[in-house]
Amino acid sequence: MGQAAKTLVWVSFFVLVLGGMVMAQDKAKIGVIVVDIQGDFTKLKNGSLAVEGTDEAYIKTVAENTKRLKEAGYPIYATQDWHPKNHASFFTNHKGKKAFDAIKLHGKDQVLWPPHCVQKTPGAGILLDKKLFAAVVKKGMDAQYDSYSGFQDDGGKKTNMDKLLKKEKINKVVVYGIATDYCVRATAIDAAAAGYKVIMVKNLSRGVAPESSQKAIEEMKTKGIVIMEDLDLEKIKAN
Ligand SMILES: [Zn+2]
Repeated sequence: MGQAAKTLVWVSFFVLVLGGMVMAQDKAKIGVIVVDIQGDFTKLKNGSLAVEGTDEAYIKTVAENTKRLKEAGYPIYATQDWHPKNHASFFTNHKGKKAFDAIKLHGKDQVLWPPHCVQKTPGAGILLDKKLFAAVVKKGMDAQYDSYSGFQDDGGKKTNMDKLLKKEKINKVVVYGIATDYCVRATAIDAAAAGYKVIMVKNLSRGVAPESSQKAIEEMKTKGIVIMEDLDLEKIKAN
């Protein structure tokens, strides 16, 4: 082998090794968080807190796209609102209050909701095939605190979401579901705060109100969260 050929072999070797190192460093391990696809939040099931646009077509689209992500090899985690009957977020547990009144609860603004997602009731059930999920993370079990975020409740008590993601070495999460302006927003923002790269998929999410949903989207952007209109598997890898 001549000197030039030898040099070429070595150069090729280093390019491959360095390239491999750069790629390994950049390679994100992706996980998916599907937020609160539960009967009580949907029009499909005549839920007690049904969010606009949560009809059969929406649930079908969420199911299909979640399946695509699973087939692409990404672990999927569901969050599930799972309240005791005496939960502080229910207007029925506050004398003289009605649905959607706002109060202060432990010093924080709290919207009072119609009772929803009560443990072991049909309305609390997740409407997607359980086989899609690596785990279901329940939230809102403490009667005193609400928990929009899949990572922690308003009292600061952590769920096991962060541990589950870390165990799989996940560093990037795709988040979507119900509702854009509450539980999707809080889950995405907490994921970003915990150091994950976050992509929120807008058209796989539905919001309680258009104004607060738009505000939530803008706020998520300021936290470095990528807002994706539709699920795009190539872009998810690249972003
Ligand atoms: Zn709730």
